Amino acid sequence: MAAYRLSSIQKTYKFSANPPVLDKVVFTIDHIHAGDHHLSSTYEVVKFLTDHGIPVTVFIQCSNPSNDYEFDRHNARSIYGLAPHLVTLGVHPLPKGHSQAQQRDALNNISRIIQDITRKRPVTLSYHGSGAGPMRGISFPGIKFARGVQHAWAVNTDKPLDTPVMPLVSVSRAYEYIHERNNAGLSATLFVHSLELRHGSRQRRVFDTLVRDVVQRRLQALAYQQAMQQDFHGGGGASVVTTSPIETGVMRLSALTKEGKRPIPVNLSIKQRDGHYAVSASNTTSRQFSLPVGNYRVSAQTGQVTETKDLSLNPRQGIHHIFLMPV
Ligand SMILES: [Zn+2]
Repeated sequence: MAAYRLSSIQKTYKFSANPPVLDKVVFTIDHIHAGDHHLSSTYEVVKFLTDHGIPVTVFIQCSNPSNDYEFDRHNARSIYGLAPHLVTLGVHPLPKGHSQAQQRDALNNISRIIQDITRKRPVTLSYHGSGAGPMRGISFPGIKFARGVQHAWAVNTDKPLDTPVMPLVSVSRAYEYIHERNNAGLSATLFVHSLELRHGSRQRRVFDTLVRDVVQRRLQALAYQQAMQQDFHGGGGASVVTTSPIETGVMRLSALTKEGKRPIPVNLSIKQRDGHYAVSASNTTSRQFSLPVGNYRVSAQTGQVTETKDLSLNPRQGIHHIFLMPV
């Protein structure tokens, strides 16, 4: 089976609605598919995401009734087992046009499988196929959040049982969408089938680009349910759910020429090494930042020269680091 690998990336995400908090993106995958020699299976794609610490929701179907859906159960179990703290199993209902009784039976079967595997009842769902979405007379008891099939949205129109997903026509369009959503205090949901991640496809370009943006801390990846809770119940700006306030410290960064010690304008970049905070400033000789405590990699760049330093920020003592630029 083909292990998933990143293809080459052209673009990087450059926005931030509320610095230093990174804009939010959610990874979801519809169905479990087998791969082939050239195409990674859903298992391999989920393995790739979780190997990079990225949470993902996989919406599972019951497709094979033999022996109590043993095949579906086995697939779902191996995917969940990759990283139980990062993988969420959600429900994939029947296509549009089925009756409430048929939908309820499918929901019960899938819920039982998910509960066997995770010890939790599923609360997330994806609608199936073109034109599908919430239907009159059809309900899914216990489901709190459902991914719709629409891209369109406007501020204050999101519905928990019909949330929009990102258009996958191009990286630029996906970026615009993420930017607009986050500016409105909302997360952006990426929704793909692993079958669509063939080499050279536009879905693959968007997927790979967003993965790299997350890994390199230009975007933060949230679990679907966590993002929905923030979208619908607030806490969007700060984005970190904690019981105590975040401790902060003060860091000042300055730059001098190595020879002569004269102030020199540089581009500053600050990245938390074990978290999601990133902030930058351009064309400055000195700048002070108030940041969550933690370990940071900071750098100063001018022309072809970049100087990097690892710093540990605590709440009691501020830091003033001076880059000596060999220019
Ligand atoms: Zn589907």
